[in-house]
Amino acid sequence: MIPKHCSCLQVKDYLPYFGSKLTARTQPECSMTAVWGHLFQRQGLFPTPTGRHALWYFLERVDLQAGDEVLIAAYNFYVIVRLVVQKGLVPVFVDIDPETLCLDATDLAQKVTDRSRLVIVTHMFGNPANLTEIGAVCRQHELLLFEDCAHGVGTLWETEQVGQAGDGALFSFGVEKLINTFGGGMLVLSDHLAAGYGPPPHPVSKLTSFMDTFGRCIRSVLTAPRLYGWTLYPATRLGERALPQLREWIIPAKDDPDYRFASQSRAPFKPFMKQMQALQLARLAENISRRRDIMRQIKTRLSHVAEIAFLDEDKHGRSNGSYFGIVVPDPAALARHLARHGIGSNPQEYYDCAALAQFSAYRTPCTHAGYTSDHLLRLPSYPWLRAAEIEHIGHTIEAFWHG
Ligand SMILES: *Cc1c(COP(=O)(O)O)cnc(C)c1O
Repeated sequence: MIPKHCSCLQVKDYLPYFGSKLTARTQPECSMTAVWGHLFQRQGLFPTPTGRHALWYFLERVDLQAGDEVLIAAYNFYVIVRLVVQKGLVPVFVDIDPETLCLDATDLAQKVTDRSRLVIVTHMFGNPANLTEIGAVCRQHELLLFEDCAHGVGTLWETEQVGQAGDGALFSFGVEKLINTFGGGMLVLSDHLAAGYGPPPHPVSKLTSFMDTFGRCIRSVLTAPRLYGWTLYPATRLGERALPQLREWIIPAKDDPDYRFASQSRAPFKPFMKQMQALQLARLAENISRRRDIMRQIKTRLSHVAEIAFLDEDKHGRSNGSYFGIVVPDPAALARHLARHGIGSNPQEYYDCAALAQFSAYRTPCTHAGYTSDHLLRLPSYPWLRAAEIEHIGHTIEAFWHG
């Protein structure tokens, strides 16, 4: 079984976590700069409980009024849109560039109004957005710019780590992210917004904190390449029929109309996370180059298949290859075909949020976001894939159309 996603953790990456359970925690302060400073020119790097907390804190930090408009890509993780709505702001959906899956600068310029205050740009799948033109629109209309870099560790806009082109950025270290520390996030602020800032206190019970982090630790163990096929994979199959809660725990929904951000439901950022990040950052270049290599091999292998359209991941810099997507006529049918051959994939990684029922008050037609939502298939691209597995993926996709 080749899963869609696999944990990139090695055994030694778990040691800081279990070490922190065994020894007294002696490092109360988390200096993110010590771990991340080499990637950023900015000083304002703050640990947060999750990536979404970083956006929430940013929205509290900047001076926005209820009813202010937030320009945001329609093809998006619905949680980010939900936070905007929950804050009393008005999401204005902007179409995407189908080659990068990121906010389209031309459509952005057309959607600006007198009420626009903030642009949220996502480096979707780890592909750098067109920050040159998006930044120019923001400067021209004096809009705040926030970057969602949940997929973007090691993504370069031109030659610079993304997350420092505007006023703020979020990073996420959840279990499906390129750097996984069983949760945790980071808020990046411009020097101006960072001056005198500290994230709010995050008091949660020891039990909540432990259950949250340990649960994610277990999930990471079970998505190790050699374990997944025997544990979570059969469990998700079972969960499809019998245990929806189990399935929700393993694969959280990508469109939950009842979701509301609750700050205290998650563990705080813990000192071991910083140590885990340092271990994984030391391998970042290798991880990215392997992912990009796999992506390139599969694209080359399938370049003659007329039914497939590929993205242009490096259009505005260098993608980190954290997610790999192809565009096909019927992704659900191809996903079923791949599953029959032991290959995991996801025909609905994200939705066109401008068309979701939960955001119907803000509905806007976004042609490319709608098309992408209906036609994109996410394929495996994690660095443990072996040559034979890569060939199996390429061959199986080709055989779907050409026997
Ligand atoms: C995971 C993710 C987030 C938020 O991260 P959490 O740490 O889960 O809050 C934000 N945006 C995108 C695109 C993501 O994939």
